[in-house]
Amino acid sequence: MAATPETPTTAAPRRKVRRHRGEGQWAVGHLTPLNGSEQMKKDDDGLNVRTRIETIYSKRGFDSIDPNDLRGRMRWWGLYTQRRPGIDGGRTAILEPEELEDEYFMMRVRIDGGRLTTEQLRVVGEISQEFARGTADITDRQNIQYHWIRIEDVPEIWNRLEAVGLSTTEACGDVPRVVLGSPVAGIAEDEIIDGTPAIDEIHRRFIGNPAFSNLPRKFKTAISGSPLLDVVHEINDVAFVGVDHPEHGPGFDLWVGGGLSTNPKIGQRLGAWVPLDEVPDVFEGVVSIFRDYGYRRLRTRARLKFLLADWGTEKFRQVLEDEYLKRELVDGPAPDQPLERWRDHVGVHRQKDGRFYVGFAPRVGRVDGTVLTKIAELAEEHGSGRVRTTAEQKMLVLDVAEDRVDSLVAGLEALDLRVSPSPFRRGTMACTGIEFCKLAIVDTKARGASLIDELERRIPDFDEPITINLNGCPNACARIQVADIGLKGQLVLDDEGNQVEGFQVHLGGALGLEAGFGRKVRGLKVTSAELPDYVERVLTRFQKEREDGER
Ligand code: SF4
Repeated sequence: MAATPETPTTAAPRRKVRRHRGEGQWAVGHLTPLNGSEQMKKDDDGLNVRTRIETIYSKRGFDSIDPNDLRGRMRWWGLYTQRRPGIDGGRTAILEPEELEDEYFMMRVRIDGGRLTTEQLRVVGEISQEFARGTADITDRQNIQYHWIRIEDVPEIWNRLEAVGLSTTEACGDVPRVVLGSPVAGIAEDEIIDGTPAIDEIHRRFIGNPAFSNLPRKFKTAISGSPLLDVVHEINDVAFVGVDHPEHGPGFDLWVGGGLSTNPKIGQRLGAWVPLDEVPDVFEGVVSIFRDYGYRRLRTRARLKFLLADWGTEKFRQVLEDEYLKRELVDGPAPDQPLERWRDHVGVHRQKDGRFYVGFAPRVGRVDGTVLTKIAELAEEHGSGRVRTTAEQKMLVLDVAEDRVDSLVAGLEALDLRVSPSPFRRGTMACTGIEFCKLAIVDTKARGASLIDELERRIPDFDEPITINLNGCPNACARIQVADIGLKGQLVLDDEGNQVEGFQVHLGGALGLEAGFGRKVRGLKVTSAELPDYVERVLTRFQKEREDGER
């Protein structure tokens, strides 16, 4: 007898009926907003908030700002409210946004490719001193971030930035964010190809363009022709990595779908080689796939990596070729394993034109307006008009004649900007943390800086490249999952059972061609106060027991 709904049988397994739940993909007709963020973006383009800031909010003050602009669209212009001082990490998760936020803003200046002239750097430094209480952090995406910005000052800051060719356009928000570029593009002796023209063209065609200002979430891009693989291409939504094609010559290997935070994923190669002049078109194709097919139902599933996980690389490449590029891509090789573990360009290096560049390390990306202005002056005194920021929170001065290098190095070291830093200064990164970030649970910047000092004092002979990354919460702004020692901020119990600031430990993450995520050491949590003891123990034991070549 055939089974019918009225006559159930135990013989046949019950079929699971899955109700199709749309993911909010525009390309399959799901145009109705499925959450508040999508509704906010549909109601008005984030780019349009600029006019309201200039004509209303900056004149009438903080209280005049529409909440949807304040906590949504202002990001499209690089503005977030910062954390109200004095709120401890234990209250982060229980307070309402309006209780957590201060009436001052974090402002992010986008620096595509990390390229700055000394004139631009001087203006960045002056703005910091005049409007941001001296704050200016170098981020791990080559940007500069201010704090303590008043809404009343925003139009004047924009005027000054834009007068020297800088902006905050789409520095945050569900848009194409800053394009990472090799800090030594165009100057390195070992460069495979200079990606700068592609970065400029992407900026010209797609940044501030309403056709790409409503993506499912942020979209991160990296382009580098350096064999050091110096732009963390593995964790970007789209990346172009320099390779030499045996038939076609220098070009780029195409990677898609990398990203950290929830469900971290290393980007995947599509096996395609892209010549320099086609990079902007391929970028347009990939970002268009994300806009049209990206998931918009849940923000935790809205990054490109989730679509790639469901489609696979073969289908992704097929859709890119068939629907967007209307042609086939050329197959190409993978990049080679870099010869060095450090990718930050710190130290003194010869350029291909015979001059030198000098890379230096502040502590955990923290500088200030006065220091930035002094760096600009120092660079100019030594014949340079160009500086660069790196994706490791470091900086470079370019184009220095050989006989001026020692004097520049001495000037930088006098500002506590180390050209020959310890592995700890060089390899420790920290996110914004509880000082200014509304999501933070623990302090990171000061903790990271003091950790560097302690480790330098305790194990001065440690000479292995090492990365120690500190996050102030479970997000991934400082890339803890791909650090040798990743520290995720949370509240932990001390010996007396009190809740105090501390970290969940992840060990053994890496970037490069052997990229992988660190393992969460189950149950291993350290209080912030115990952190130097813990890291010292791990590193001295590693020094004693490591085998040849072991990381
Ligand atoms: Fe803020 Fe968390 Fe990101 Fe740090 S990791 S900047 S605390 S959101």
